[in-house]
Amino acid sequence: MSNTQRRTDVILIGAGVMSATLGVFLQELAPELRIRVFEKLANAGEESSNEWNNAGTGHSALCELNYTPEKPDGTIDIDKAIKINEQFQLSRQFWSFLVSRDLIQNPQNFIRTIPHMSLVQGEDNVEFLKKRFNTLSNHPMFRGMEFSDDPEKLTEWLPLVMEGRTFDEPIAATKIDSGTDVNFGALTRMLFDYLKSRGVEINYRHSVEDILRTSDGLWEVRVRDLHTGQVQSHTAPFVFIGGGGGSLPLLQKTGIPESKHIGGFPVSGLFMVCNNSEVVAKHHAKVYGKAKVGAPPMSVPHLDTRYINNEKTLLFGPFAGFSPKFLKTGSNLDLIASVKPNNLLTMLAAGAKEMSLTKYLIQQLVLSDDERLDELREFIPNARSEDWDVVTAGQRVQVIKDTEDGVKGTLQFGTEVVTAADGSIAALLGASPGASTAVHVMLEVLERCFPQRMNEWEPKIKGMIPSYGISLVDNPKLYEEIQEQTTATLGLDQVGAVPLPLTAR
Ligand SMILES: Cc1cc2nc3c(=O)[nH]c(=O)nc-3n(C[C@H](O)[C@H](O)[C@H](O)COP(=O)(O)OP(=O)(O)OC[C@H]3O[C@@H](n4cnc5c(N)ncnc54)[C@H](O)[C@@H]3O)c2cc1C
Repeated sequence: MSNTQRRTDVILIGAGVMSATLGVFLQELAPELRIRVFEKLANAGEESSNEWNNAGTGHSALCELNYTPEKPDGTIDIDKAIKINEQFQLSRQFWSFLVSRDLIQNPQNFIRTIPHMSLVQGEDNVEFLKKRFNTLSNHPMFRGMEFSDDPEKLTEWLPLVMEGRTFDEPIAATKIDSGTDVNFGALTRMLFDYLKSRGVEINYRHSVEDILRTSDGLWEVRVRDLHTGQVQSHTAPFVFIGGGGGSLPLLQKTGIPESKHIGGFPVSGLFMVCNNSEVVAKHHAKVYGKAKVGAPPMSVPHLDTRYINNEKTLLFGPFAGFSPKFLKTGSNLDLIASVKPNNLLTMLAAGAKEMSLTKYLIQQLVLSDDERLDELREFIPNARSEDWDVVTAGQRVQVIKDTEDGVKGTLQFGTEVVTAADGSIAALLGASPGASTAVHVMLEVLERCFPQRMNEWEPKIKGMIPSYGISLVDNPKLYEEIQEQTTATLGLDQVGAVPLPLTAR
């Protein structure tokens, strides 16, 4: 082992969209800080943030039915939908700030307008969708949403989905034109290019193997240079663990009390990708369905028009499955290695409680190509197997933890920021709503880890994100202004010039 010990101010572990976002915030707020990044792969945005590994939905609750559950009294709960929409507005403002200052260019390379639609079949589901529409469309954040159960209108909205469909049960959809498709891989690479231009040291093919506290209160990060095999030590007063699925094992190495009694449950994914440009051209929307009874929220099927490398393509999925790996490029031993004496009971309790989920994921994993095609045909009745290829998506590691009221081993579907009590280290766990809310989540990291600097930073943050600290629900006028301004800056009002579909890959 080499005995080099290098000191810096901030260490970011992982070059995904989360580290990228935090790095840019720190660079803008405190340019004097020396930032060093370690990423074990050869480039930025290669794991979950990569465009082929996630669904690229700018989550703002315009179409995702799991954000608007039905309450026992039959009314629709829209609290979560409002929260997620508000969080996405922070991302839109931050990205607009970067574009308006020319810190990143050509926003169409990472964000585009795509109608967001929800599609359901069956009397009860149509009833639910109608109630959801009635509740949401009165709210300023969801203005412009349309509902239809008229097959003619639906054919106009969704020609590919309606072609060859028999109408033996009611069908309905909602549509809102202001939805977005976000290429989080391209965004991540742009943010890292910007950081590099500002002198941030980015070390690719460097894998973090250990994190220890030094006697003088710094964090020592031990990193293996995968080119040479040498291990180097780097120290810093602040470390962010943005390792995606790889964050949990690194957090466990810190030994902080906050890292105890937490486990991870990996969920793998597959997408079907259309290789027929004529089929791709017939569809232009992100269409979310309803999760089957007993299925977890991340398994909601959707048919997505995407822009990848500036070409139009069509993806269906993701099909969830079980894999013991924490990263797509991870090891089959990841899950087992994450079980420690302090989280064993938590993991066992979750295992006992989540048998139906495990069973569901295993059933999904063993689906044959024909069975997957049957699921696709619920969206595209005339789908032909030769038009679709299967690609492996990213891994999601859902957090398992004990709840505050003492319930052991509860599976969480959201994101969790775990910080040491003194704010010197933070880790991001979980995967949903994911990259769309990176700005909101990284603001939380700043608030929890740099409380002593927030008075100084707040005016700067407000310069980047005018709604920071302000409730958009209570300020519909500000919401409208932000929508208008970010739509213009990000070029989301530019229709036409739609690139040609991606042909067979
Ligand atoms: C199938 C699927 C669909 C999704 N769909 C959406 C969607 O539609 N919309 C949305 O907003 N979000 C979506 N998400 C979630 C979103 O992709 C993630 O929340 C987001 O990309 C996480 O970013 P990250 O930076 O935390 O992790 P990542 O992008 O995974 O980056 C972590 C990085 O850390 C590196 N790393 C890990 N361990 C180490 C180590 N020991 N040393 C050095 N480097 C290390 C990894 O190589 C990786 O590059 C989806 C995710 C999946 C899997």
